[in-house]
Amino acid sequence: MVKCAIALGSNLGDSKQILNQALDLLSQTSGIELISHSSWYETVPVGPPQPNYVNGCAILEIELLPENLLQILLKIEQQFGRIRQERWGPRILDLDILLYDDLILELPNLTIPHPRMNERAFVLVPLAEIAAHWIEPISRQTILQLSQAIDCSGIINRNSLLK
Ligand code: ATP
Ligand code: CA
Ligand code: CA
Repeated sequence: MVKCAIALGSNLGDSKQILNQALDLLSQTSGIELISHSSWYETVPVGPPQPNYVNGCAILEIELLPENLLQILLKIEQQFGRIRQERWGPRILDLDILLYDDLILELPNLTIPHPRMNERAFVLVPLAEIAAHWIEPISRQTILQLSQAIDCSGIINRNSLLK
């Protein structure tokens, strides 16, 4: 079993419900155990003008290779009707692999750790909630340290409002 961290995001449709359904689907997938997930956060988008996002992170224990996990995540995105359009444009569901144990991997279609996670408050704030002491293997800093090094304004915990 390998511990891995994923990021979830949505800014079209009933985002909170979509993210909860995505977690349900993941936990029903063979080879995947859902260990924990963060609160859902409302976040101001990066990229072209678009609605605010709901973002969160989850910890999984998996018996899958990274490539196979990516295939499963992309398939779940498609099940929710995601269509890839402009880069960083609005989407029903985005599932990214953040960390896979302490693996560093660079394939044409898969980079681990996620190459932009260390600069993204919408990733680091939820991840710090569930994996504060996990060491990101490239910077060798903990998620908590990384989150403390960036501007985290605009990341609002909406758990109480987004039930
Ligand atoms: P960003 O990568 O900046 O978060 P994005 O999530 O909007 O952008 P997508 O259009 O969802 O980008 O994904 C494009 C491709 O990125 C995917 O088809 C996948 O092959 C590749 N990719 C590379 N590394 C990863 C990773 N760690 N997790 C998910 N996808 C990845
Ligand atoms: Ca993404
Ligand atoms: Ca993605």
